[in-house]
Amino acid sequence: MNLEQNIKKIRADFPQLGISINNHPLVYLDNAATTLKPKVVIDAITHYYSFEVANVHRGIHTLSEVGTRHFEETRVAVQHLLNAREAYEVIYTKGTTDSVNLLAQCFGKKFLKPGDEILLSLMEHHSNIVPWQMIAEVTGAKVVVIPINAAGEIDLVEYKKLLNSKTKMVSITHVSNTLGTVNPVNEMITLAHSVGAKVCIDAAQSIAHMKIDVQAMDCDFLIFSAHKMYGPDGLGFLYGKEDLLNEMPPFEGGGSMISEVTFEKTTYNVLPNKFEAGTPAISGIIAFKKAIEYVLELGLDNIKTRELELLDYATSEIKKISGIRIIGEAKEKSGVLSFVLEGAHPHDLGTLLDKQGIAIRTGHHCTQPLLKHYQCSAAARASFAFYNTKEEIDIFIAGLKKARDFLL
Ligand code: PMP
Repeated sequence: MNLEQNIKKIRADFPQLGISINNHPLVYLDNAATTLKPKVVIDAITHYYSFEVANVHRGIHTLSEVGTRHFEETRVAVQHLLNAREAYEVIYTKGTTDSVNLLAQCFGKKFLKPGDEILLSLMEHHSNIVPWQMIAEVTGAKVVVIPINAAGEIDLVEYKKLLNSKTKMVSITHVSNTLGTVNPVNEMITLAHSVGAKVCIDAAQSIAHMKIDVQAMDCDFLIFSAHKMYGPDGLGFLYGKEDLLNEMPPFEGGGSMISEVTFEKTTYNVLPNKFEAGTPAISGIIAFKKAIEYVLELGLDNIKTRELELLDYATSEIKKISGIRIIGEAKEKSGVLSFVLEGAHPHDLGTLLDKQGIAIRTGHHCTQPLLKHYQCSAAARASFAFYNTKEEIDIFIAGLKKARDFLL
């Protein structure tokens, strides 16, 4: 589909794009934090709560069977989205953060020993740092940091030097939520495998913006959240290779994850149920299939092209404003533009833009070690989705100039 030609129709699919904030039409440039939801997703949630409420995997009554079928259809849709070999290699979680916690705990308990090393890059989101630190503390493993260069790209020479026989896990983001850098994950995975390490790819910022093929990448694990891809919040995914998922112990105990329970000994269910204790986010899971269909209908290649055009335009326009320093100038970027305005606090900028109806993110973006590296404690960030327009970027740039004139 040609997104430019259909932009009016596409924007009409997102009710929230029609609202006003502080008496100005909303300009939503905080898509890396969370994306807006198309009507098909909202309708699917409303439909479930209006007519199809039932728990899954538990009843033999019609509603439970229908619900379970829809619930499992989303798993197959995610399998196809990722090109995973099997649907049961897709585990439902509460989000990317929950997926990393699951992985760190379960992988760690099975595979990490004192002295082992977990490699993370300097640009990781806190959710891909802290769970690994927590399991490192318990197992005696060590977290080792892969440095980045001034442009905000992973230093591959240093990365190669850090890999060794003690490296058990490399957990890296596909796209940095602060820098926008697209990391060379294919090359990094091959290098990690050459020393026998496993790799987890944090696809929170890439899943909605480019094609992903876990078999071609050959990653061992891949994680993301539905809300970053036009889907509901409280839902995420962990893809894992079947043999590794089978070797790992379960995460949480409870209903659904068991095969048989006695007070003496409990045996566990097969994949994927082994990792899915309790009643899941049924409505969100069912609705997420609509988000996947919506994105695939637009085409991930078309989305990528459009978002890069928006990024290039915004980058060239923002560079014309004196005093702006862009944080993250990698050769390969996704639609994320972080910046600081010398002499102005990002929060003040964010507040003044909000008064004009423009939503951007300000703060540390859950990447404190990274911002420290850039010698700032906070930055402003505009992040783009296919429904944004050049006109919105013009409004953002004009708003930024107005804020600068007010503040400086
Ligand atoms: N990793 C990255 C790169 C992210 O951008 C985010 C969300 N900002 C997360 C992980 C965490 O995602 P969630 O809050 O949905 O668990």
